[in-house]
Amino acid sequence: MPELPEVASRARQMNTELRGKLISGVEVVQPKCLNLSVEEFQSALCGSSIQEVTYHGKWLFVHLNQGWLLLNLGMGGEILLVTRSSLPEKYRLILDFTDGSCLAINFWWFGFAHFVAENNLEHHKMTRKLGPNALDLNTNDLKRLFQERTGHLKSFLLDQSRIAGIGNAYIHDILFLAQLHPLRSIKSLTDSEIERLSNAIQTCLRASLEKNGAFYEVDLHGWSGSFTMEDILIGYKEGQPCPVCRTTIQKIKTGSTSSFICPVCQPLL
Ligand SMILES: [Zn+2]
Repeated sequence: MPELPEVASRARQMNTELRGKLISGVEVVQPKCLNLSVEEFQSALCGSSIQEVTYHGKWLFVHLNQGWLLLNLGMGGEILLVTRSSLPEKYRLILDFTDGSCLAINFWWFGFAHFVAENNLEHHKMTRKLGPNALDLNTNDLKRLFQERTGHLKSFLLDQSRIAGIGNAYIHDILFLAQLHPLRSIKSLTDSEIERLSNAIQTCLRASLEKNGAFYEVDLHGWSGSFTMEDILIGYKEGQPCPVCRTTIQKIKTGSTSSFICPVCQPLL
């Protein structure tokens, strides 16, 4: 599933390569991924040009000169810059551009392509409740978010309405780098632990972002991200030695999810 590094690196590349392109046609294979009828969606997009591409959490925000195209790949998918003569086998949506290129969008399972009018973003139900992007947070922001909150650290970090962009791929290494157990209660965190956590979020997500995201996702030209299992410190590596203290990495149950921890580096106090 794409998380912040994958979405942010896609947004970066789309912003560079798609800016200024003028949409001349829209083909919809899967109308269920839209928030409008096919006809309304087509007439909203046709004739619009792409101004800028940004992201919020797992959503791509394509700013058009007449509103917003919001894309969410759900469990994963491809957004490929191709031509009509080099289309991939599978796609759910195609945006044709006046220069002859097109964007072929595929969702592996289910995704969203929503059109939102220029001043209506605050009414878009699926994005308006997202917390701030994880990479935009400094230590003080994180302290503020934790204020008056209860519950466990891991579930807070994964809650997209609190912090947007962290999912199951990166959470294990973030907590490991911060030397915090996933079941630590938020109330028990000290200022220096929150600072460690803030640094760990930056270090972990930026390491992948610099490599254009995880290896199981591809960019506009079909190239895989170069953040591989070798770059992952302890996530999904149960039975292997902790890279810091050599203790065996454990897979433990944390509520309804599993976590990978080093029991020595991340004690539950
Ligand atoms: Zn360790």
